[in-house]
Amino acid sequence: MHNDSQQDEWSLETLAIRAGHQRTFEQEHSEPIFPTSSFVYESAAEAARKFGGKEPGNVYSRFTNPTVHTFERRLAALEGGERCVATSSGMAAILSTALALLSAGDEILASRSLFGSTVSLFDKYLGKFGITTRYVELSNLEAWEAAITSKTRLLFAETPSNPLSEIADIPALAALAKQHNALLAIDNCFLTPALQQPIALGADLVIHSATKYLDGQGRAIGGAVVGKHDVLEEIFGVVRTCGPCLSPFNAWIFTKGLETLSLRMKAHCENAMALARWLDQHPAVSKVHYSGLETHPQHALAKHQQKGFGAVLGFEVINGQEGAWQVIDATRLLSITGNLGDVKSTITHPATTTHGRLSDAQKEAAGISPGLIRVAVGLESQQDIQHDLARGLDALAAS
Ligand SMILES: *Cc1c(COP(=O)(O)O)cnc(C)c1O
Repeated sequence: MHNDSQQDEWSLETLAIRAGHQRTFEQEHSEPIFPTSSFVYESAAEAARKFGGKEPGNVYSRFTNPTVHTFERRLAALEGGERCVATSSGMAAILSTALALLSAGDEILASRSLFGSTVSLFDKYLGKFGITTRYVELSNLEAWEAAITSKTRLLFAETPSNPLSEIADIPALAALAKQHNALLAIDNCFLTPALQQPIALGADLVIHSATKYLDGQGRAIGGAVVGKHDVLEEIFGVVRTCGPCLSPFNAWIFTKGLETLSLRMKAHCENAMALARWLDQHPAVSKVHYSGLETHPQHALAKHQQKGFGAVLGFEVINGQEGAWQVIDATRLLSITGNLGDVKSTITHPATTTHGRLSDAQKEAAGISPGLIRVAVGLESQQDIQHDLARGLDALAAS
């Protein structure tokens, strides 16, 4: 039985477990790891054919590696894309995409609420080579329309945004990109294909930091880009030549991580939803930002476009930074760290960590208030997470 033969009929849960592995002559059940830098041939002629690309096959693991390829095929199947190229990190996925698609004079149009390193990559590094990035409010379609120019080659968005859970209308952005001969890339890190499939909604490219939910257990750094064959061939060229390739061992971790992706995301969402509802009624909490709440301004869009609301939520406490730090410092279970996408719940004070480089005015414009706390809800018992936050919140409400 060949694993890929029935792939078209399989649901996402099945693809996550079965897609991508081509069993070797050893007849292994679980996906093998090939930790090898190069590959050998029967003859000089075979080597010449492989090196010249006249015959498919492996040459060197910076170009292709069977373990990495298994992960790429599996993630492409889950995202509904023609092809996937894996990279050494999420940032390497974004850099490789930019190097492949953009030249001096081109413009990127991006949502304002992006991952911090993505903004640095665009402004500080791509800027050096004459590529300009302009930023607009994620959920304001008119702002995107007004800012797009004939030089815009790439639209780039993260949805839902971090940490305020704003939602981009993916089909609307896809239509705008198409109208202007640009490509739309969606960083799908926060929802994963288990909860959102941007390609089916019209996006050209899906970017991943596999470091987050694809692994799901905080073990390895990696990334990927998914999309159509022709565009991915350009991105593959960058990775193959410039070298931000994924290691076979990390690819294996992500491949095995994908097998439990649907289950984990379902459980993450349930925990986050319960926590959001509980926080929403707590007297020390003035506002909860989570697209799963009916009061979220884009709840209807999120419900329509997503299969779940994800597990990253923001909430504002009374008494500003002092109140927020008090709640964070009272935790004993939650990890005080900037990471997310882990079975372990994490807690962060955005204004002084992930968004600390912004000026006060920029923070205010981005909605990063001093009392804002971000929790990436893990898979511990929902009650334990709640108790851990109640310690600081109850004290704050009583003060
Ligand atoms: C973490 C993250 C990245 C960068 O990924 P790395 O694997 O850390 O390089 C990009 N986008 C988002 C939304 C992220 O959360």
